[in-house]
Amino acid sequence: MQTQMLIGGSQEKGQGEVYEVLNPRTGEVIASIPDATPGQVQAAVAAANAAFPKWSRTTPVERSAALLKIAQLVEDQAEAFAALEALNCGKPKHLVIRDEIPAIADCFRFFAAAVRCMSGTVAGEYLAGHTSMIRRDAIGTVGSIAPWNYPLMMGAWKIAPALAGGNTIVLKPSEQTPLTTLMLAEQIAGILPEGVVNVVVGRGSTVGRTLVADPNVSMVSVTGSIATGEHVIAAAAKPIKRTHLELGGKAPVVVFDDADLSAVVEGVKTFGFYNAGQDCTAACRVYAGKKIYDRLVADLSAAASSLKYAADDDTTNDIGPLISEQHRNRVSGLVDAAAALPHISVTTGGRPSDGAGYYFQPTIVAGATQSDDIVRREVFGPVVSVTPFTDVEEAVTWANDSDYGLASSVWTKDIGKAMATAARLRYGCSWINTHFMLVNEMPHGGLKQSGYGKDLGMYSLEDYTFVRHVMVKIE
Ligand code: NAD
Repeated sequence: MQTQMLIGGSQEKGQGEVYEVLNPRTGEVIASIPDATPGQVQAAVAAANAAFPKWSRTTPVERSAALLKIAQLVEDQAEAFAALEALNCGKPKHLVIRDEIPAIADCFRFFAAAVRCMSGTVAGEYLAGHTSMIRRDAIGTVGSIAPWNYPLMMGAWKIAPALAGGNTIVLKPSEQTPLTTLMLAEQIAGILPEGVVNVVVGRGSTVGRTLVADPNVSMVSVTGSIATGEHVIAAAAKPIKRTHLELGGKAPVVVFDDADLSAVVEGVKTFGFYNAGQDCTAACRVYAGKKIYDRLVADLSAAASSLKYAADDDTTNDIGPLISEQHRNRVSGLVDAAAALPHISVTTGGRPSDGAGYYFQPTIVAGATQSDDIVRREVFGPVVSVTPFTDVEEAVTWANDSDYGLASSVWTKDIGKAMATAARLRYGCSWINTHFMLVNEMPHGGLKQSGYGKDLGMYSLEDYTFVRHVMVKIE
C-alpha cells in the first residue's frame, strides 16, 4: 500500500507521530501512517512556491493536457482507486465505481476544458490614450484541506481548478482517509512538473494548522466542519490570506401536499441516505405538508428500513458504515436525545447495528419540531427528520431558519409554487423534484456558516484566479 507523501519530486514517509487508518466496515487497522513534520510541510510549500513561476506561465493548453492525463489515469485505474476508497471509507465499492470515479474523471476533464475558455471581460480605452484590459491570473500556492466523506473526489475538486488556474498546491487529505489521495499523488508525479502538486498527511490540529499558517501559502481552501472553518479564518486573518470554505450542511426538503409522494420517498431514500448520510447536501431535514405527513412518514420509514447495509457480500449493500466509532457515538447521541423527547417517534432504526463495523441503522425521526437539535444540528449520518408544516410561509421560514445554507429541495407538481419557493430559499443550491444531483458544470457552495467560495463550474475557476487590470499608455 502506498503511504508515502509527495513533496516536490520526492516520495517520502512522514516523520511525525504515527496514527492508524481503519477500515470502518470492520474496525481493523489497514495502515499506520506517520504525520508530516512541520519541516516536511514547509518543504512541500517551498516546492510548490518554487514550481509556481513556471507553472503559472504555462499556456492553458499545456495545463489542460496535464489535467486530461490525470482524468485518464483515474479511469484507467478505476478498480484500484475504488477498491482502496471502499476499504478506507467503508463505502460499497460498486457505488464508488458507478458514481464517484466517473465524476472525478469528469471533474478533471471539465477544468481541462474550462481553462481554455476562461477570458477577461474587457479590453478598451476607458481613459483617453490608454488601453485597459482585464486579466485573470493565478494566485500562488494553495493550501488545500479535504474531508473524509469523499476523499478522492474532494481532492479532485481542489486539485483540478487550482491547477487549471495556474496555481500550485499542497493538499492535505483527512487523516482518517488519506489512502486514495496518496495513490493519486504517486501517479500524478509522473504527469506534472515537480512541485506543482504536493501531498502531505496528518491531523488537522497539527499538520493542517501548520499548512494554513505557512506564510508562503497564498490561499487556503478547506472542505470540512464549521469548527475547522472558524480555525482557518482566524489563522488567515492576520496575514490576510484568501480563504475558500466549503463547510457543513443541513438540507431542508420541502414537500408540499401535491407532490408525487412515491418520487419523494424514492428521492429521500436515495439522497438522504447515500454514503450513510455523510454528505453535506444530504436530504436530511424533511418538512411535509399536513395532508401527506402521515403517509410520507409511513412510506419513508418502510423505504429506509429496506436499505441494505452490513452484508458480507458488499455488492448487495446500499450504504456503508459511519467513518469511525467516535462519529457513530455522536450520531447515536443525537438520535437518543431526539428519541427521549415526548413529541418525537423514531419510526425505524435509531440504533447502532450489532456486529462489527461502525454501522448505524437507517433512521427516521418523526414529529421533530423546529427547535429540536435533530432539526438544527448536522448529524452527518443515516438519519432523516420529518416535521409537519401548515402553509408555505411556515415551510419557507423553517427551511431558512438554519445556521447552514448549502443545499435544499422543493417537491410539488405545481411548477409556479416550486419556482416561487425556490426563489425564497437561502441556499447555495435548490433542487426541484430532485435533490443531491451535482454536475461539474454547475457551482457548488454555500451561504451562512456553510461557508463561501464555489467548487465546480466556471465560478470555481474564478475563485482560484484573481482579476487584474493592466493599462497601456498608447498615445
Ligand atoms: P473536519 O473539519 O473535522 O476535517 C476536515 C479537514 O480539516 C481534515 O483534513 C482535517 O484534518 C482538517 N482540519 C481539522 N482541523 C483543522 C485545523 N484546525 N486547521 C487545519 N485543518 C484542520 O471535517 P470532517 O469531519 O473531515 O468532514 C465532515 C465535515 O465536512 C462535515 O461538517 C461536512 O458537512 C463537511 N463537508 C462539506 C462539504 C461541502 O462541500 N460543503 C463537502 C464535504 C464535507
